[in-house]
Amino acid sequence: MPIYKAPLDDVNFLFNDVFQIDRYDNLPGFTDASADVREAILGEAAKLAEEVLQPLNRVGDLEGCNRNADGSVTTPKGFKQAFKQVAEGGWLGLSAPSEYGGQGLPTTLSQAVNEFQISANMAFSMYGGLTMGAIAALLVNGSQEQKKTYVPKMIAGEWTGTMNLTEPQCGTDLGLLRSKAVRQADGSFKITGTKIFISAGEHDLADNIIHLVLARIEGAPAGIKGVSLFVVPKTLVNADGSLGARNGVTCGSIEHKMGIHGNSTCVMNYDNAVGWLVGEENKGMQGMFVMMNEARLGVAVQGLAQSEVAYQNAAAYARDRLQGRAPTGAKAADKPADPIIVHPDVRRTLLTIRAFNEAARALVVWTALKSDVAHRSNDAKDREAADDHMGLMTPVLKGFLTETGFANTVQAQQMYGGHGYIAEQGMEQFVRDARISMIYEGANAIQALDLVARKLSRNGGRAAMSFFAEVGAFAKQHGTDEAMKPYSAPLAKALGDLQQATTWLISNAMTKPDNAAAAATDYLHLFGFTTLAYMWAKMAKVALDKIASSGETAYLKTKLVTGRFFMERMLPETALHLARIQSGSGSTMELAADAF
Ligand SMILES: Cc1cc2nc3c(=O)[nH]c(=O)nc-3n(C[C@H](O)[C@H](O)[C@H](O)COP(=O)(O)OP(=O)(O)OC[C@H]3O[C@@H](n4cnc5c(N)ncnc54)[C@H](O)[C@@H]3O)c2cc1C
Repeated sequence: MPIYKAPLDDVNFLFNDVFQIDRYDNLPGFTDASADVREAILGEAAKLAEEVLQPLNRVGDLEGCNRNADGSVTTPKGFKQAFKQVAEGGWLGLSAPSEYGGQGLPTTLSQAVNEFQISANMAFSMYGGLTMGAIAALLVNGSQEQKKTYVPKMIAGEWTGTMNLTEPQCGTDLGLLRSKAVRQADGSFKITGTKIFISAGEHDLADNIIHLVLARIEGAPAGIKGVSLFVVPKTLVNADGSLGARNGVTCGSIEHKMGIHGNSTCVMNYDNAVGWLVGEENKGMQGMFVMMNEARLGVAVQGLAQSEVAYQNAAAYARDRLQGRAPTGAKAADKPADPIIVHPDVRRTLLTIRAFNEAARALVVWTALKSDVAHRSNDAKDREAADDHMGLMTPVLKGFLTETGFANTVQAQQMYGGHGYIAEQGMEQFVRDARISMIYEGANAIQALDLVARKLSRNGGRAAMSFFAEVGAFAKQHGTDEAMKPYSAPLAKALGDLQQATTWLISNAMTKPDNAAAAATDYLHLFGFTTLAYMWAKMAKVALDKIASSGETAYLKTKLVTGRFFMERMLPETALHLARIQSGSGSTMELAADAF
């Protein structure tokens, strides 16, 4: 059976030492999250993930969800009780506003808790994750009445949320959507249409499901400019807040799919379902973007979380499995063979995953802090800078963390040899579960295009320039420090590659848009590597300072070696991405479509 231990030491190192989040105690919610409170919460979150959610991961995979004859959906054994426990423990509302019943604690803290829950049981975590996204969209775009009606029940976990964008003929290109909304005399709308692949669309974990649905109001313009956002409850809510009649929305079927079997992926049929406009007419994408950005960060964490749990299992197996002898001679002479951890290639594989995980976790914490500043600061300039960071980093996080996270689950599976291919070990489930994170919430190619075509140039390139300046200043400041050189010199080189790629795009994409589109995925990866290198350099500086002040510990030594591995063995990939980008789109676009 797979194991999982929440990485508490690492989260505490990031919170307390690297990002020193106590410095943010001028922001609402942070004073309530002092170091001892944080540690207590994280400890409880770890227990919940390890003892309640992780044991249900394989059950969920084996049983999956079942649609019953009446259209209801039964989740796997144990999910209902576990969801009740999560809801009653207040975990869903950890960072939700207190005026709606949340605890108002920092998002930085709830993102760490999310990682634990996703590592333990990704399919289960999605029921709460989508609910949080729907709450965010309602809080930003909903009317006072909508917020009052839905948000407290969702924070309490009595009701859950969904996002309904995809239709059979429209996935990436939402301008093609056909679901229609007909205005009623009382101000409501009747929604009709079919949505597919809707996560958590129907289930038995909560009393009501609040669907956020994109549809086109009759007479609205074609394309994306005519799309509006609606709130459509599964069961209508009476004026006094009690549940009324069943609405015209049903689950037509559930998908049988590669992974996340414990999460119901539904075809949702809307048949004159009563809905209410959220935000302005024809501005539905803006409303949905709040939910999508929230969800994209959550999906990025899925990449990290699956990589982490896969790593933990692979490392434990490698310490245990006896095969062959070390190239330098027997290391366990008393045994018939050495454990495979002695083999350099096994170590290369494990360090590649670990070096990604630790820097990716730092990037998630850094970005979650920016999210807290963007939403909670009184200072307009700070809010603007934090918002710039979020805009720039969201596609990088979603695209790079999920792509690498999935690749890492495959690498971790490889450590088991043939045993990794056998279901009982649990490794192939991590691979299957992680795969979807590259596809939904905007497939990764779309994240790359978003970065290159929109985020890079937004506000005259302000966010990118500020990021380059920050990283450049850090590399320069520590460039002459001997102990920091193994980290600062490669960081400066990677930043140089990224800046060259950016300059190349500026010079070559305007005249030939294919150059930008063909370069986009490489550019996103180049950006991802450089950002993780910055995270490693920051962590190395803190580790070196701590060693200088209070001596070396095993944790700090491991940190420094893992960081050096990243710089020496992984970061050189930036040169590869730069070379590909600079080769342009010629060979990519030369063949006619029928040559493929
Ligand atoms: C398990 C699961 C759960 C899901 N949950 C939800 C949910 O809760 N709510 C919801 O609304 N949807 C959900 N989805 C749908 C998901 O978001 C879509 O599948 C995804 O957005 C891609 O759309 P598509 O499948 O129609 O692919 P298409 O849009 O048809 O894309 C096919 C391929 O073409 C590429 N492509 C398309 N356009 C471009 C372009 N301009 N440049 C480069 N490449 C391009 C894409 O990257 C992709 O690789 C879910 C899907 C699955 C499988």
